[in-house]
This record gives sequence, C-alpha cells and structure tokens, in this order.
Amino acid sequence: MKNENCIFCKLANGEIPTATLYEDEDFRVILDANPASKGHALILPKEHYENLYELSDELAAKILVLAKKMIIKLTDVLECDGYNVVQNNGEIAGQTVFHFHMHLIPRYKGDHVGLGWNKTELTDEDKDDILSRI
Ligand code: AMP
Ligand code: ZN
Repeated sequence: MKNENCIFCKLANGEIPTATLYEDEDFRVILDANPASKGHALILPKEHYENLYELSDELAAKILVLAKKMIIKLTDVLECDGYNVVQNNGEIAGQTVFHFHMHLIPRYKGDHVGLGWNKTELTDEDKDDILSRI
C-alpha cells in the first residue's frame, strides 16, 4: 500500500527521481539529502509502513540482509572505517519522516558524526521491574 501524501513513497517508487544506489522489487536504497557523512544512505521499502512497529515480518526479515549487503559493498566503495546502522521509531526517538527507513551511516576515522547517548547505571529496581514484566 502506498500513501499519497508520503514523500518516501514517491522516492521509493521512482515518482520523484533521486540518487539510487540499489533497487529491487521491495526496496530502494537512496542517498540521504542531508547526510551525516559522505555516503549516508537510506533503505526505503516500496510499500508504506510508518515504522518498525508496523513493518511486515516478511520485509523485516529481508531488510537486515539487505543492510548487510549494502554496507559490505559501500565500505569497499567509500573506503570508510565502520558503519552505524540506525533506525528511528517515533518522534521522541528522532523520527522525522513517517515512512519506515533504515539509515546506513559510513564512519571515517576522525569524523565528527554526532551519534550516541549518555550512559547511566542499570539499577536493580529497573532490572527487576523489567524482568518481572517481560
Ligand atoms: P529520520 O530523522 O530518522 O526520520 O530520518 C529522515 C531522513 O530523511 C533524514 O536523514 C533526512 O535528511 C532524510 N530526508 C528527508 N527528505 C529527504 C529526501 N527528499 N531525499 C533524501 N533524504 C531525505
Ligand atoms: Zn510512504
């Protein structure tokens, strides 16, 4: 299913031309328009799913295999030193476009890509609470 008002539906399905690194019947992999680093790419499913909560099991299974293939190839092409594979779900998590996408962010020694979080301690209270409810 496509969403008429979704820009990523249009990009994924070729209705808006974009820099495409790879395409198959399920996905298009494009260059991010505002890259965190040179070669920052996005894996877009051609069908509209808002985020990982909604993604079909079939596509969810395929996407990590594709991510693996892409970063192996792109590490060679870009001569980068590592990769962040990032996927945001919900506004609070930094999602700004509500069509599932997976970020492939090449990392270069000495780059200043700002990904990360402040580390805290896992408390016994939180641990017990979570383990008792899962
Ligand atoms: P997120 O914050 O996880 O929702 O990521 C959305 C990403 O989409 C950002 O990295 C944007 O730079 C990127 N983006 C938004 N519009 C376009 C577009 N038209 N073409 C390519 N990338 C885009
Ligand atoms: Zn969409």
